[in-house]
Amino acid sequence: MELIEQILKLKKEKNALILAHYYQIPEIQDVADFVGDSLALAKIGASDARDLIVLCGVRFMGETAKILSKNKKVLLPSLDAGCPMADMVDAKDLQKYKQANPNRTIVSYVNTTAEVKTLTDICVTSSNALKIMEKLEDTQFLFLPDRNLGTYIQSQMPEKDIELWPGFCLTHQRLRREDVVELMDANPSAQVLAHPECNQGVLGLADYIGSTKGILDYAKNSQHKEFIIATEDGIMHPLSEDNPNKKFILASPRLVCMNMKKNSLQGLYRCLLEETNEILLDEQTIELAKKPLDRMLAMS
Ligand code: SF4
Repeated sequence: MELIEQILKLKKEKNALILAHYYQIPEIQDVADFVGDSLALAKIGASDARDLIVLCGVRFMGETAKILSKNKKVLLPSLDAGCPMADMVDAKDLQKYKQANPNRTIVSYVNTTAEVKTLTDICVTSSNALKIMEKLEDTQFLFLPDRNLGTYIQSQMPEKDIELWPGFCLTHQRLRREDVVELMDANPSAQVLAHPECNQGVLGLADYIGSTKGILDYAKNSQHKEFIIATEDGIMHPLSEDNPNKKFILASPRLVCMNMKKNSLQGLYRCLLEETNEILLDEQTIELAKKPLDRMLAMS
């Protein structure tokens, strides 16, 4: 409690904005000014008047916030909180792919590094990918880095030709179809809500497939009372807070992103106190990486 009070005091003194992703530990979600998905956090960061932002999430989220708020100071409590999926795309490999395939539109999931965004035609999130790619007149795409989300998108729009980068989220990939089947047998009236980063075996069992925000909205509006949740365990906190009379079962104890969990209250306090761990990007990277993000925002 003392640490929380100190964070809140410091936040007030420094006029700082604390943003937290849904996959952060509950204590960080509770102390944040706003909890959301990566794009919502970046948009809030850009529209808020405060010019010191502490983003409790992983590195690509801090970079996205910096790209959309280049004149603000963006801090990450743990600079080594990366995203293994974002790191599965090497910018040099992507450059070579573009040269060999000049007719393919490069669509990058927002879970990519700033450098990869500079080589991207348009960014998408798990909540707007389908709508945006349907609206685009282009028919040939490279989707990166998540092959599971890409496969799901392709299944929803067979008329488009989508090549997939062979990346995946280590956390969601750990969930096996048999984990979910076992829970479905034990909880026959529960609905399965899954993030599209899960593999096809899991998605084939889902009653609803959507982003973290989509899962939260679905659970809140649903008449059902029991749900098996197939995404990272941080979402269990807002799910139970928003729906005290409903039951949520995490599909597997392995659904924990070790990188998201690198942030702690102590780390947040230190980062805010010392204003360390700043996200720094050069002007050119910011300018080029902002284009596919702006294009996405204009089409969302
Ligand atoms: S949950 Fe997956 S996509 Fe999100 S930060 Fe962790 S590894 Fe990356």
